[in-house]
Parts: sequence; structure tokens; C-alpha cells
Amino acid sequence: MEALLERGIVTALTLTAKLSFSPSSRDALPRQLLRASLALLTDFFRRSLGYRWIKESLKAGLLGVIVACQNETQSQTLVVLCGIIDVVQRSLVYRSVIRQFSVSLCDVHQTSLEGIFAEDDINELWNNFLAVARNFFAIMLDLDANKLVSARACDYLECGLIALKADFRRCSGCSTAHYCSEACQGKDWSVHRRSCEELRITRNKSRDGVSRRDRAFFGALVDRVYFQERTQIIPEVLSFMREFPDQIPSIIFNYANPEATCNIHLASIHEFDEFPKFVSHAERSGGRMQIHGINVADGSKERLWIFPLRSATADVMTELQLISKETSSGSAAEAERVAALINLDVVEIH
Ligand SMILES: [Zn+2]
Ligand SMILES: [Zn+2]
Repeated sequence: MEALLERGIVTALTLTAKLSFSPSSRDALPRQLLRASLALLTDFFRRSLGYRWIKESLKAGLLGVIVACQNETQSQTLVVLCGIIDVVQRSLVYRSVIRQFSVSLCDVHQTSLEGIFAEDDINELWNNFLAVARNFFAIMLDLDANKLVSARACDYLECGLIALKADFRRCSGCSTAHYCSEACQGKDWSVHRRSCEELRITRNKSRDGVSRRDRAFFGALVDRVYFQERTQIIPEVLSFMREFPDQIPSIIFNYANPEATCNIHLASIHEFDEFPKFVSHAERSGGRMQIHGINVADGSKERLWIFPLRSATADVMTELQLISKETSSGSAAEAERVAALINLDVVEIH
């Protein structure tokens, strides 16, 4: 399969699908080829890791092909179309795909794309796809314009000061650890020295085909959703604490589901055991660092990335612990204290 992909089968299949709409009868390919090409593309996208081939197909005109199918009513073609929209939608979480999507959008000469299909079921899927893409695109523009997260927390856990990134000094070894002062850097060295070299090596590398910019985009998504949904998330953290009093709660933002809209679930910190550095950091932070992860599709698999939440104080977690012990679930006292906690002005960043 790799050999086929490397030799350009994705572009060839996309162009084949495109030719079935060619106005010139000399070029036009039979319609069966449209369905077959789209089905094969979907299969390739699902079976290969990453998003490289989806991006390549978009570049070759996939979006135009989907739009050109708007009058299709044949159920077999509609099934294939739904499949390809679904797999492309899962990859929208990657910045590189969103960027290509926006370029492709300009090539599609139709001003309004919402609700263009003749069939209701596919319209619903398609409208949702467009909404997700447009939302992610707006977040990407904000990220590129530096409107998001330019704050940092001091990596010496005892300090944890949150300030503008520009006010911090970076470790010259790894360029990753940030400290508010030389004193904090000195105090953290005995812990940091163990990971400094490794951080230096991984910082600039794209990890399994996921670039630094893609990772920064995941971080922006987590950050935005957390602050939008904080009112819902805090009561969920509380019920987690009630149910599992001995465990440190953490949160997974799941984008790997078919709708690619985020669903949030609470998890034990031990779901992150494959990232021991983060787990030990969170355990030592006394509530000033929580593990937040984003789960994204990677071919037919899923992959977890970590974006810890740093708080200037441990007030939120401490108060939640107290509420879980001192009030009963559903009581007025609980509601009142949770509301106060949600409105508490506390500095938090990812
Ligand atoms: Zn510090
Ligand atoms: Zn370092």
C-alpha cells in the first residue's frame, strides 16, 4: 500500500473522480469510476496514519468533487460520500489539513455551500462538516495572529508563577523549560537535568509526521474548549472526586469521534501513565498542574497528546476537594460553593 501511496495514487484517484464530471465528453469518465475512486480514497485515508494523504487529495481537488456530487441521489454513491466526508472531518483537527481546506474552498466556485445536497441525511453531515471546518479555521487565524496563549507558567513547580512569555528566561539547553528567574532555574535543575537533553531533541522534530505547528493548534483547541466549557467541567471534576476520592482527576478532550466536535471526559491521571514526566509533575504540583489531553484520529487509530493546565494557585483543586468532603451531592450548599468557585478569578493557562 505504501508503494502505491508514494507513487501518487491519491492524486490519481482524486483526478479520476474529478474527470467523471468533465463537461467534455472526450474526457468524461464513466460514473462507476467516481464511486470506486471515492471508496478507494476513503479506504486509503482510513488505513494510513496521519493526514498527509487527505491533504494531498484536497490539494488535487477533493472538495470540488464532493461539491460536484450535490445532485446525486443514488444510495450507493451517497454511502460512499458520507464515508469520505466522515474521514476527512476527523482530520480537520490538524492545522495542515485546515489550511489546505481553506485554500480548496477558494477553488470551489460556489458562494454558499451549506445545504447543497439533494438528500437530507448527507446535508446534515455536510453542514456539520462545514461548521467544524469554519470554526477550526477561525481558531487557526487567531493562533497565527498571536491572539491566543502567549502566557507561560514558571516550570519550577514550587513557584509556578504565570506571566507573559516574554518575561521568562528559557533553558538554553532545551529551549523548552521556562523560568521566571535565575533562582527558579537553579532550584529546578536537579529535576530538569533528567529531561533537558530529551526535550532538546524532540522540540523541533515533527513527531510521527505531526509538526510543531499542528501540535500548537491542538493546544489552542484544548485551551479554547476548556475556557468555553469551564462552567460544565468544574462540576464534573467534583463528581469525579466524589466517586474516586484517591485519584487525581485529569481531562481528555476527544476529537476522534465521527462528528469531530469535542466531547469531554474526566479520567484518572493513570490513563496518562505512558507520559510519566507529566504524571509526576502533576502529582508534585499539589493542584497547580492538571493533565489535559487531546485525543485525535490518526488513520483508523487514535492518539493522545498532552497539554497540562497550569494554575497560579492550587485554590480551585483544594476547594473542590473540600466541597467533595464537606457537602453532599446535589445540596444547596454544594451548588453555592461550586458557583462561587466558577466565578473565582484565577489565572489558568495551558
Ligand atoms: Zn519561578
Ligand atoms: Zn532544559
